[in-house]
Amino acid sequence: MANYHYMTNYHSMTLEELQKFIKEEHRRAVATCKDFETKDRRTLIRAIKLMEELGELCEEIVGFSATQREEKMRVENKEKVAEELADVLVVALLLAENMEVDVFEALGNKVKKIEARYK
Ligand SMILES: [Mg+2]
Repeated sequence: MANYHYMTNYHSMTLEELQKFIKEEHRRAVATCKDFETKDRRTLIRAIKLMEELGELCEEIVGFSATQREEKMRVENKEKVAEELADVLVVALLLAENMEVDVFEALGNKVKKIEARYK
């Protein structure tokens, strides 16, 4: 079993560490979840989960926008937005792992495309 306790400072987490975590989480989900028998089924479940998490993120964003004037509530809402954003990213990475998409290569290509717009 992998040990991620060395990642004490999450602000300095590398893409490689994140990728290791995603691979391990994917392996654990496949090993323990009955609904994860086939790759196609896992892809479908992950895609649906991604939409669910996007919905939760949007809900929190709406809540955040509604509480702009109350500082305490604003901080709490921003934490919830961050949590849901992390859910979206993790599920998207798990979907990519299941589909054997090299998402870090895809991200690199996307960054290049975006940068090219400004040249
Ligand atoms: Mg969520």
